[in-house]
This record gives sequence, structure tokens and C-alpha cells, in this order.
Amino acid sequence: MSTEFQAAAAHLAAEFLAQNPTERLKALRAQVPGRVVFTTSLGLEDQVITHLIGEARIDIDIVTLDTGRMFPETYTLWRDTEDRYGVSIRPYYGKGDALEALVAKQGIDGFYNSLESRHACCEVRKVEPLGRALAGASAWVTGLRADASQNRAGMEAVALDTARGLIKFSPLFDWTRERIADFAARENVPVSPLHAKGFLSIGCAPCTRAIAPGEPERAGRWWWEQEDAKECGLHVDADGRLIRAKAANPETLHK
Ligand code: SF4
Repeated sequence: MSTEFQAAAAHLAAEFLAQNPTERLKALRAQVPGRVVFTTSLGLEDQVITHLIGEARIDIDIVTLDTGRMFPETYTLWRDTEDRYGVSIRPYYGKGDALEALVAKQGIDGFYNSLESRHACCEVRKVEPLGRALAGASAWVTGLRADASQNRAGMEAVALDTARGLIKFSPLFDWTRERIADFAARENVPVSPLHAKGFLSIGCAPCTRAIAPGEPERAGRWWWEQEDAKECGLHVDADGRLIRAKAANPETLHK
């Protein structure tokens, strides 16, 4: 990773806390040359980011990983979001031959059988397409928040993803879910009707359930698994470890 790249990341990190999320996205676009990609799952945080990109007309590619197993409501929201903001949300799909082999091997709902089977499904439907979506990109915009889950508690707003060779940028990193929901309501951002039914974190339909009041936000994802196993592989490094840098501190970005 070039020193210019590291310097841009350090500069973005130094400015981050003093900026609002639109300013953060504009700063990213201004300071990082090349393709900037935002991966949306059409969840609450991601809808707010799409709103910010769409309203300010920021030159950031919006993409989604269509696993083929998403809720019908998610597809409706996808269409409505494109209409509302005049943007195109480009889909990336798992490769046809890999999908066919996966389902032939473990069955259509084989992900319930073991952690290995579940990871195999996420690999084919999400992780491999994500690699293609981010190929050649300089920066990856995500909707991660610091408080979203135990696994993500140590993530930082501006991180160097050395495995992918890009800057990972989370403009809502320091916002709470309540603050994001208030913003979405105030700005009339289209959001999934599933949120009001207890689906706080929305992923694939067979792997997501509603949560009860007081349950952790991501308890509804892969609910049959142990808590410490729950990530889809989208934010892990090449060695399979969750990417967790230290603070959003320019000093750490040079190391
Ligand atoms: S969340 Fe479930 S259905 Fe979706 S890719 Fe992962 S295992 Fe497959």
C-alpha cells in the first residue's frame, strides 16, 4: 500500500470526528483517487448512506450482493430506493457454477447443518462476489457502527484493509442506531418495513429472525449459532480474522 494512500487515510481519520457524515463522504471522495464503492445491504444504516450519497450526488458506486435468498421486502426497497434517488444499485451475484455445486452438495438450506456449511454458503453468495465488487477499488464505504455487535466493537471508522489494498470507511461509525433511525424518519429515507417487525439487522431471509425487546441487535442473524461465530466473512482479513484496528488515530495508520 503506497505512502500516499496511507497519508490520505491518516488525513481522513484526523478530520473524521469534526465532520458530519456527508462531509466525511465528500472528504473521502476528494482525497482518494480511483473507484470508491459502497456496499449496501439495504438495512437502516445503509439506506441512510445511500440517501447521503444520492442527495449530495457524490461519485461513489453503490453496489449490493444479491444472494438470491433475500426477503421480498428487500427487493421492493431496492427498486424504491433507485427511484427515489435516481441511482443505480449494481448487483453482484454468486457464480452460477459455484452456486449449483454448493446446492448440489449441501442442499438448498444446507447452511443450517453446520458452521462449515453456513460459511460455504456465505462464501459463494457473498464473499466471492464482494471480492469482484471491490476489485480495483481504492476505498470501500460500509455502514458499520462501533456499537453494532460485540464482534465489531473495536472496529475503526477509517481503516486500512491491507488484504484488499483499500481504505475501509464507515461514515456512521460513531452514530447510534437511535440517532440513525431518527435521521431516517426526519429525512423520510425509505427503510425496510421489516425493521418495524423486529428485524433490526436484515440479511438473507432464511438466516434472519426478528428479535425480542432487549435482545442484542444481531441476535437475529444465524440465531442457531454461538454468538462468537457470527460474522459473514465480509469484514475479515485474508487469514480469517475479524479486521479490528485500534483507534481512528493517524499515528496507527502509519504503522
Ligand atoms: S446468510 Fe444464509 S443464505 Fe445468506 S449467504 Fe449466508 S448462509 Fe447463505
